Amino acid sequence: KKIIETTQIQKTYRMGMEEIQALKSVSITINKGEYVAFMGPSGSGKSTLMNIIGCLDTPTSGSYILADKDVSDMSENELAEIRNKEIGFVFQTFNLLPRATCLENVALPLIYAGLNKADRSEKAFKALQSVGLDDRVNHRPNELSGGQRQRVAIARALVNDPSIILADEPTGNLDSKTSYGIMELFDELHQKGNTIIMVTHEDDIAHYAHRIVRLRDGLVESDYINPNPIRGH
Ligand code: ADP
Ligand code: ADP
Repeated sequence: KKIIETTQIQKTYRMGMEEIQALKSVSITINKGEYVAFMGPSGSGKSTLMNIIGCLDTPTSGSYILADKDVSDMSENELAEIRNKEIGFVFQTFNLLPRATCLENVALPLIYAGLNKADRSEKAFKALQSVGLDDRVNHRPNELSGGQRQRVAIARALVNDPSIILADEPTGNLDSKTSYGIMELFDELHQKGNTIIMVTHEDDIAHYAHRIVRLRDGLVESDYINPNPIRGH
């Protein structure tokens, strides 16, 4: 079943007199439960496409259907609402609040969802459990390793039970061994039925994904099923 469908998406940035076509015409369909890696050189449009898919930005033209809703012409408020409901974000730099505990960091999206404190804590604890960090709930980010911080960020992305996890260079700040640990966690999440889209420029990381989409100059250069995805243990 389709969860994402972009049709001839174009994105033009205007810089004074200059126009930059970050996306020229991108049509891509992603089904529920897929695990996709976006690759491509710097400037090829990966971040622009991720921002549009994540409802952080809208295309200049073309249409984008997310979970059966046309989001191409939504207002800021409508976008924020659908974003909070459908998307869990994971970033290269983790983006955790330094003064908040792991539990508080993970519970944060649930405040916007309107849950009471007890429910927030319970859900956040379960999310931390699912990434193997139930013994770190009261630690602060600076008391954790890089891999553990990224697990907290992944727990935060999962806590709302989103339709899609969007991960932008999730292993970009981690050493290889820790990166593979995070990829094994993604593999587990994929096996549980989560839809995952990640941007990476590292081949060995991309090969955990089951589908690899390459962008070049604002166009899809290739889009193929990975015949032999790396599996976690
Ligand atoms: P990638 O993530 O693959 O490196 P981007 O989507 O960041 O590519 O960028 C695609 C093109 O759009 C680049 O030429 C970049 O300079 C330009 N671009 C990206 N964001 C902006 C912006 N906010 N304003 C102007 N130009 C931008
Ligand atoms: P580090 O940065 O120290 O290498 P890791 O990301 O490898 O951190 O692991 C963080 C913690 O999560 C460790 O205590 C590890 O034992 C635990 N852990 C690692 N993988 C899993 C998993 N798939 N499920 C549950 N717990 C895990």
